[in-house]
Amino acid sequence: MDTLTLKVLFTVGFLSAWAIRIPYQKQNKQHKAVVARQVRQEQCLFVLIYLGMVLLPFLYVFSPWLSPADYRPSVWAGALGVILFTMALWLLWRAHYDLGKNWSPTLELREGHTLISSGIYQHIRHPMYSAFWLWNGAQALLLPNWIAGLDGLIAFGLTYLLRISQEEQMLLEQFGDGYRAYMQRTKRLIPYLF
Ligand code: SAH
Repeated sequence: MDTLTLKVLFTVGFLSAWAIRIPYQKQNKQHKAVVARQVRQEQCLFVLIYLGMVLLPFLYVFSPWLSPADYRPSVWAGALGVILFTMALWLLWRAHYDLGKNWSPTLELREGHTLISSGIYQHIRHPMYSAFWLWNGAQALLLPNWIAGLDGLIAFGLTYLLRISQEEQMLLEQFGDGYRAYMQRTKRLIPYLF
């Protein structure tokens, strides 16, 4: 697979992920946030995610500026990248669909927030973050460039590490024993494993 094909595949995956999110972003605006946690940290993480998952990858796709960090593309990495991106897209769609109006891009609770523990959420507590790990893995495999390929994993990895316990703490405070019991019967990212 040549670099141009890989760039096209990455762009198609990225735009599909964006298309999945758009209706939920619109819906999100109709339900006011009643609790917002770690606002400053969330703003910084937003910038980091934007850099790692949007700006740098597309700088690589559309300009030669990052080309000193290029390496040889591989057909196997490309094929695995397509598989991971496809899995990420399905999981992203399913998680948005199940979370519905309770979705927020940041640490928030919305008006009439309910605890979701059905659909994909009956198998894992953070399917959207699983999707983001897959997406960033796909980015690393599809973009044969040390900067544009790996910066998404670094940006999302840091976001995940900083956010995950805070999110669960917020949901524990809101839903108490309901969320505690839900935590006991589910794993975070991979069913039965992790
Ligand atoms: N961490 C989840 C959701 C990401 S969206 C996932 O990876 O699928 C982030 C928002 O979702 C958080 O601000 C929180 O309010 C909400 N949230 C997370 N898990 C939830 C659940 N099981 N039920 C309802 N809302 C949830």
